[in-house]
Amino acid sequence: KKVIIVGGVAGGASAAARLRRLDEAAHIIMFERDPYISFANCGLPYYIGDSIKERSKLLVQTPEAMHRRFNIDVRTESEVIGIDPTTKTVLVRSKERGEYRESYDALILSPGAKPIRPNLPGIESSRIHTLRNIPDTDRLKQRVALENTASAIVIGGGFIGVEMAENLREIGLDVTLIEGGPQILAPFDPEMAGVLAKELEDHGVKLLMSQTVTSFIEQGNRITVQTSDGREVSADFVLLAIGVKPDTAFLKDTGIEFGPRGHILVNDKLETNIPDIYAVGDAVEVVDFVNGSKTAIPLAGPANKQGRIAADNVCGLGTTYKGSQGTSIIKVFGLTGAATGNNERTLQRMGIPYHVTVVHPNSHASYYPGATPLSIKLLFQSDGTLLGAQAVGYDGVDKRIDDIATAIRFRGTVADLAELELAYAPPYSSAKDPVNMAAYTAE
Ligand code: FAD
Repeated sequence: KKVIIVGGVAGGASAAARLRRLDEAAHIIMFERDPYISFANCGLPYYIGDSIKERSKLLVQTPEAMHRRFNIDVRTESEVIGIDPTTKTVLVRSKERGEYRESYDALILSPGAKPIRPNLPGIESSRIHTLRNIPDTDRLKQRVALENTASAIVIGGGFIGVEMAENLREIGLDVTLIEGGPQILAPFDPEMAGVLAKELEDHGVKLLMSQTVTSFIEQGNRITVQTSDGREVSADFVLLAIGVKPDTAFLKDTGIEFGPRGHILVNDKLETNIPDIYAVGDAVEVVDFVNGSKTAIPLAGPANKQGRIAADNVCGLGTTYKGSQGTSIIKVFGLTGAATGNNERTLQRMGIPYHVTVVHPNSHASYYPGATPLSIKLLFQSDGTLLGAQAVGYDGVDKRIDDIATAIRFRGTVADLAELELAYAPPYSSAKDPVNMAAYTAE
């Protein structure tokens, strides 16, 4: 069997490794447009911020190692520019080999999503950066290393924008974050996001909320950003992080069906509408695990899981993907924010009635040194079914949200959370864990 994979990072590399485990004999070819495969996208901001010191640590797998370990035919600097489903071939533009065709028995698409670059005046300035891959990272790293780089404007208060604002601040830059909406970090409800925004401000990040950028003006070594209400902010460079869109232009004449925002449509086996073509990761539309609606959730966990499931199905295992619940986490200086499932905004939009409980217990027994406050917000239905949760605090936020995320995966209720028997000794928790406390309060 010959399987072609398009995209060599999260979804693509997972699919390749799983395929090899399931089928020792398959010919697996992985095409990647960039020079690198399987790099740590999620680590890029921390390398720019110097928490990760060595560039080589970002390269989780090299093409050579992928070949040695899994016998994958990895072809980098090779872009798939077209697919012909009738002859079951892809057209490849390779730096080394020019254009050629390659045939497949099964095709797995994991092309990901790319940063949105709005068509605004001045957008072509070389002082405007985006961050997706290693070449982008190298450019940013060079920019911040320049002796006269002292300030940055981050546009967009999503995960990447906030992580970058933090990391640029950590290396001593003067940072302004401009956000179009009234709050940062959309997966959180406003009061939770507000705590994280304050942490940014307390560490010297200037926030400009509800401001839409209208143009960029480059003057000498500076770039000025103009906003909808007439403000102007100048800095040495701009990081644009206003969201991503599926990187699927190469699929336009294939007959593959797309959703309203350009995501590839797949069924629960991650098959597209074209036989033997599967798609996974940031480029696909998925089902919201909590409310069943169609959504798109560009996160690494879902991409990796989907890559594995598509490989299972290429091998006839019939595995299904049951949806994404958007479990996510972010470090904002000393604080951590984490969320899972639906927030109030989503529930209101979907017309789903819900109850809210918010508790503020300590992260561990208050008599043991170092206990810090933690806020947990629980959203649930009248029958107790869990719909979502958010938490903000200094310590132990991750495990509380992971407990609740697990309960949501099993369609659990508030009563189930109350029953959970969780690990306790004073340095770690309380005999009534914060997750139990949230449930007791909700019951
Ligand atoms: P990608 O990982 O983007 O891989 C797609 C690959 O396909 C790309 O390398 C691209 O070059 C290649 N490609 C595209 N088209 C073609 C073509 N036609 N031919 C050949 N190759 C092609 N998620 C989290 O859950 N937690 C985090 O902390 C987190 N942090 C992030 C930080 C940053 C800076 C970024 C950019 C992303 C972060 N993410 C995080 C998101 C996560 O990285 C993505 O959800 C995940 O990588 C998606 O996997 P994917 O395989 O769909 O796409």
